[in-house]
Amino acid sequence: MVSTNSFNTTKSEEIFTAAQKLMPGGVSSPVRAFKSVGGQPIVFDRVKGAYIWDVDGNQYIDYVGTWGPAICGHTHPEVINALKEALDKGTSFGAPSVQENILAEMVIDAVPSIEMVRFVNSGTEACMSVLRLMRAYTGRDKIIKFEGCYHGHADMFLVKAGSGVATLGLPDSPGVPKTTTNNTLTAPYNDLEAVKALFAQNPGEIAGVILEPVVGNAGFIPPEAGFLEGLRVLTQENGALLVFDEVMTGFRIAYGGAQEKFRVTPDLTTLGKVIGGGLPVGAYGGKAEIMSLVAPAGPMYQAGTLSGNPLAMTAGIKTLELLQKPGTYAYLEQITKQLIDGLLQVAQETGHAVTGGNISGMFGMFFTNQVVHNYEEAKTSDTTKFGRFHRGMLEKGIYLAPSQFEAGFTSLAHTEEDVQKTIAAAKEVLKDLPA
Ligand SMILES: *Cc1c(COP(=O)(O)O)cnc(C)c1O
Repeated sequence: MVSTNSFNTTKSEEIFTAAQKLMPGGVSSPVRAFKSVGGQPIVFDRVKGAYIWDVDGNQYIDYVGTWGPAICGHTHPEVINALKEALDKGTSFGAPSVQENILAEMVIDAVPSIEMVRFVNSGTEACMSVLRLMRAYTGRDKIIKFEGCYHGHADMFLVKAGSGVATLGLPDSPGVPKTTTNNTLTAPYNDLEAVKALFAQNPGEIAGVILEPVVGNAGFIPPEAGFLEGLRVLTQENGALLVFDEVMTGFRIAYGGAQEKFRVTPDLTTLGKVIGGGLPVGAYGGKAEIMSLVAPAGPMYQAGTLSGNPLAMTAGIKTLELLQKPGTYAYLEQITKQLIDGLLQVAQETGHAVTGGNISGMFGMFFTNQVVHNYEEAKTSDTTKFGRFHRGMLEKGIYLAPSQFEAGFTSLAHTEEDVQKTIAAAKEVLKDLPA
């Protein structure tokens, strides 16, 4: 990989080379390894506001934000101070604390569908638990998910359809038994007819539909007008539950998430990322009648040694308090729109086919000449070009998610100057790339 002379990542390379002997792929989570963009990942030293510094001292404008949680900017002083105070009282209780009540009340007040909530430690845990609850409540085993939507790494979700909805329940990963996934039906995103067909083919057997109400895990794909509303009607007609996986969109695209933004209220919701303010938190919640099935109120078992951890609750509470200030979401929308409009414009000026958009502080751009409504269309992107774009941006001090199929995130700490620098860097990088 050709580097500009000022871009030195020697220490990152040393550390990552050593890491590869210690941990599979050198990482604790796969996409961090930069496999889909080529080159080695940079190794972080510290983060602050909109910026990150690597171990070689390079500074970057960060559009990953630890995959979403850093919505107020990294290490916001109010979050850090609250954490320092909480730290003195202890790192874990394994018992009730008032912090859980405070965050639970904030979540219940904010998210239209949530009347009761259970805290867990990750988005994965939230999604696998909500699936158990969907099945417990309906007494049905089958679920519908959408191609390209990610709901954590639990067995039942590691499925995409092969060629269309005819191919059902084939696991995406070795180690996932077919018996676990043959109750997982898949449909293309934004395709109500496919969902209708699945309900017709499996009468009385489908517990519910789970989706990212705005897709982030196949790149940024918004729902088409009527899609979420249509799913609400279809699930109701079939006695099935509608579940919004708002691990990414919750407190991100609006304070009350996608359900506030699009005014469609699901039965159950999963949360993660932002509600932990950078510490490990997930949550699932919904109608009190359904949540009352969760142990110990009801028979559906789900537990966690570190769940409701006082440090994690504290970071979540402070982060949500900061987001409640007037104008936060308007600012995220304004700064992010400026960014994506600028990126699309310089791409066009330099002769590259791109499409993209944003909702509040979540954005994405595909290198393709067609509008993207689902994962199949997302896959028409020129991923080789994206890889070169990614590397070029990195060398110019801009840290983007290392995959064409991930959304980008801004924060309240990103300034107009950061955005202008990013657009200028993109122009430089794109004009050197073959169209
Ligand atoms: C990140 C994510 C998850 C998984 O959350 P983890 O905390 O990484 O386990 C689940 N669903 C969606 C929509 C996500 O974006």
